[in-house]
Amino acid sequence: MPTYSRPDIEFERGEGAYLFDTAGRRFLDFASGVAVNALGHAHPHLVKALTEQAQKVWHISNLFKAAGTAGQYGLAQRLVDATFADTVFFTNSGVEAWECAVKVCRKYQYETGHPERWRIITFEQAFHGRSTSAISAAQQEKLVKGFGPLVPGYDLVAFGNLNEVRAAITPETAAICVEPVQGEGGIRVGSEDFLRGLRAVCDEYGLLLMLDEIQTGMGRTGKLFAHEWAGVAPDVMAVAKGIGGGFPLGACLASEKAAVGMTGGTHGSTYGGNPLAMAVGNAVLDVVLAPGFLDGVERIAGVLQRRMEDLVRKHPAIFTEVRGKGLLLGLKSVPTNTTVIERLRANGLLSVAAGDNVVRLLPPLVIGEAEVDEAIGILDRTARELAS
Ligand SMILES: *Cc1c(COP(=O)(O)O)cnc(C)c1O
Repeated sequence: MPTYSRPDIEFERGEGAYLFDTAGRRFLDFASGVAVNALGHAHPHLVKALTEQAQKVWHISNLFKAAGTAGQYGLAQRLVDATFADTVFFTNSGVEAWECAVKVCRKYQYETGHPERWRIITFEQAFHGRSTSAISAAQQEKLVKGFGPLVPGYDLVAFGNLNEVRAAITPETAAICVEPVQGEGGIRVGSEDFLRGLRAVCDEYGLLLMLDEIQTGMGRTGKLFAHEWAGVAPDVMAVAKGIGGGFPLGACLASEKAAVGMTGGTHGSTYGGNPLAMAVGNAVLDVVLAPGFLDGVERIAGVLQRRMEDLVRKHPAIFTEVRGKGLLLGLKSVPTNTTVIERLRANGLLSVAAGDNVVRLLPPLVIGEAEVDEAIGILDRTARELAS
């Protein structure tokens, strides 16, 4: 179905932060498959993990357990050890992880004596995926138009506004669902006070705090998960994108308390957590959790952010603001973001559009100073071209 409008380029292979098209042209990839290729393209450790597992067994369904790094318990344990969570459910995509998180929230309230609590508070300009529930949770015109009636149960309030959150709570509220940094919505960073406030409100009213860290997680902001910056823990969290480094993989993480109702037979997936996905997920974690890796992300992110701030000062008629955290970055543009993105691509840099007329820059977490220099050079040249 023609649901995407794509440029007339065909990519043939990738290496690190670069993609090569069929004409042999090289592009610096600051789209990273929308924050998915966290370790760049063709990372040798990931290639090895996938190809070795491919020789053994691809799929056995969740009726049986796989062994070693192909099994779910090992990867789940590593995620549990590295986070707030006590338990994990593996999926194939972000929206499935998000749907699982919604079910965890409702089931928790049901099992703890509050079956009347089923509604979830969500935020304007949110994005949680494309299922009928996820578009109903975000309620953006461009997502829902023509797909109604919406799935009931989602109450939308302004992002960052704790007064509106409190006012929206009713005896039917089960949970609050938020992205620590809104990605699709325009790289809008939730303040640490806002996240801490949400935690406090959830504790006060007996609600669960459900985070969508599908885009912000797996080191993207310089911590394994973005909520760590605010020093608060969620009860339930949806993860995907970077967790598979390009292999389709998602996960719903939860505390033991929140997952109380997720007992035998209550949820399932045919493919979720299959041996290939687990092998790659383990390989991604090997790299991301290696000592010093996240510090390196934070350091290079600081360099890129400072250079982008300089760029905004130099080209105020083209770029007005740098947004974001870590390597989840946005440039608010004066020309339409699609115009800027096209020109950047013509000059060899791939980027992604976001709401609020923002150009999203999502480099792989493995970039160094050379890639930053090259990206800033292309951004500078593009801004000069657009100004003339
Ligand atoms: C990408 C994304 C999703 C949806 O993930 P899919 O894998 O496309 O289903 C949900 N929430 C956020 C914040 C995302 O960035």
